[in-house]
Amino acid sequence: MDPNHAILFEPVQIGPKTLKNRFYQVPHCSGFGTEKPWTQAAHRGVKAEGGWAAVCTEYAPLAPDTDEAPLIAARFWDADDMRALHLMTEAAHAHGALAGLELHHSGNHAENNVTRYPTLAPSQTASDLHHHVVAKAMELSDIRRVQDDWVEAAKRGRDCGFDIVYVYGSHSYLLMQFLSPFYNKRTDGYGGSLQDRARFWLETLEKVKEAVGADCAIATRISVEGLGPSGVHLEEALGFVALADPFVDLWDVNVGSISLWSHDSGTSRYFEEGYQLEWTGRVREATDKPIVGVARLTNPDLMAKIVRSGAWDLVGSARPSIADPFLPQKIAEGRTDEIRECTGSNVCIMKVDGFGHLGCIQNPTAGEEHRRGWHPERVEPAANRETPVLVVGAGPAGLECAVTLGRRGFEMVHLVEAEPELGGKLRWIRRLPTLGDWGRIVDHRKVLLDQLPNVTVVTGKRLSSPDVLDYGAAIVVLATGSRWSGEGVQASTHEPIAGADPSLPHVLTPEQVADLGQRPPGPRVAVYDAEGYFTGPAMAELLSREGSEVELITPLDVVSPISDLTVEGPLLRQHLHEAGVRMRTGVTITAVEPGRISGEDAFGEPWAIEVDGVVLVTQQVSEDGLYHALVSDPDALRSSGIEAVHRIGDCVAPRMISEAVFEGHRLAREIDLPDPMAVRTFDRERRVPDVEPVGLRRPHC
Ligand code: ADP
Repeated sequence: MDPNHAILFEPVQIGPKTLKNRFYQVPHCSGFGTEKPWTQAAHRGVKAEGGWAAVCTEYAPLAPDTDEAPLIAARFWDADDMRALHLMTEAAHAHGALAGLELHHSGNHAENNVTRYPTLAPSQTASDLHHHVVAKAMELSDIRRVQDDWVEAAKRGRDCGFDIVYVYGSHSYLLMQFLSPFYNKRTDGYGGSLQDRARFWLETLEKVKEAVGADCAIATRISVEGLGPSGVHLEEALGFVALADPFVDLWDVNVGSISLWSHDSGTSRYFEEGYQLEWTGRVREATDKPIVGVARLTNPDLMAKIVRSGAWDLVGSARPSIADPFLPQKIAEGRTDEIRECTGSNVCIMKVDGFGHLGCIQNPTAGEEHRRGWHPERVEPAANRETPVLVVGAGPAGLECAVTLGRRGFEMVHLVEAEPELGGKLRWIRRLPTLGDWGRIVDHRKVLLDQLPNVTVVTGKRLSSPDVLDYGAAIVVLATGSRWSGEGVQASTHEPIAGADPSLPHVLTPEQVADLGQRPPGPRVAVYDAEGYFTGPAMAELLSREGSEVELITPLDVVSPISDLTVEGPLLRQHLHEAGVRMRTGVTITAVEPGRISGEDAFGEPWAIEVDGVVLVTQQVSEDGLYHALVSDPDALRSSGIEAVHRIGDCVAPRMISEAVFEGHRLAREIDLPDPMAVRTFDRERRVPDVEPVGLRRPHC
């Protein structure tokens, strides 16, 4: 271990419990909650194994009148929920980690759409997070009942084996709503001065500490700077910290609110690693108790510097712990170059809140620990490892596949890439404005490839079908990627745009702009984004910063709706605005000609503007020519000794980078199964009725 990092491995006392080191996985959503107990336990357990001193649940609503379904939380309402999370506490303890339970009440932000109870809040305010949700102003009896619920849930938590129990307030949930004049308009003893607005939180803390404080550390999570109108600001937050300090064993501090979650879980596109310290680094002024903060930290030197400065005692992490569950162990063993650094893309948030199951752009095993049995650091030796393998294309899919095949002990793997540089589309995506940290996907795999003598990397060689047949491989994996349609084929028409031809000077694709450096013939440029994620906006920003007059046009209702799933949407649009990009939504382009593009608006009215050139970010098309040339000639494959041709990533179907990485990993994990590309089912952790349908006894079942 680098002696500079030794400080990170000192134990820290929190109330009645001891953390074995300073690495603390703060509560973060997963899509598992109490719905998928085995997945929850396996996910947190792997982090405990990787060296985190504590692993926490996601938010754990303490009663049915704080429910944000369909979002998945660690609902902690009854004995069944205790049974579910007991698996997690056991998994944490098996590896010497503490387990934390983030008990929670959403207040104004609980829609209760499924449980159908009224939403509660300090005052009758409309939620600033969800439309058409207006709370009941809590009566004194509601205040007492929620506090009692908190105490009962804390006792259940203790009995379930949790070492750390939260009285969770931040992200503008119920406790912070009492603290914030934006939500709290009360004139009784629970509103008005800071002391009165703090009363509900202070009383709750006191009751919970009295009930379980001898057995559990009491943590409270507070946003110390709201950064917007709904939040509490630093001076008041520090005032609250001083008031509540006697009841708290661990201060878990962050910034922003749930409507400004984009600033707490800031992406690498818009926030530097560690930017939150401007505020969270000030909490020490109000307390001597242990403090944990988050800052998308992957750099151990910075972690050690923060601890040494006295600002925080613990290095908190959500996203970096998902990208690399073994981050602490790698630092402990001096293998810092092997850290799978979080890219700060928030694909994890998209996966959890958008799709209901955690995933990661960097770590293909995240969320797969139980249902696919994948460990982030261990793979089995492959049964067919003496078979020579050729992987064609070193984008995210090919890189991950080659690395994992190498780790599985294949004696000879060749990764061949047409370009002089590795990375596929990421070669140029990482050079676009704001997207530099996405290059970590490539950099991490380069480090691993350098350690694998059984994997040979060849660059600058484009393989034809005869080249592949002559290569000497018995298994061929094609990862040849995709390109954007230069003809403007798009989702709403499935047809080319009239006049769109990328060989013409006024029609460009993203590759032509960003990789080949081509530019439109004049200053007036339209970027037409029918895709809705990062490529269109990045093109617009690039060209605008170079001095073009850029209009970003999209047929979609908002610019980059996918960025709303990564909580980047408002920031992205603001950023484009500040970069001088004009934005127009709801316009479908159907014709391109020199000096003009035309189509129709959202209401079917004709629409046109004069431009010197257009960048078409429309549908992507698989580069699958090599695959089809090979599989169409089984005799040639046979006489070349090729037993199998597989394809992965965008050359199967153009998808997000996370899916290319996942598929490269999946094939390498399953390459010794009878049909490696077969679609397989997995444990969905449902409660299954105990009945035996007749059909189950038939052979096909
Ligand atoms: P994915 O996301 O599926 O990994 P990318 O498009 O990012 O796909 O990367 C595909 C890579 O495959 C590119 O770097 C491209 O240069 C490379 N490639 C495509 N065809 C060939 C080929 N015939 N020989 C070698 N490399 C190829």
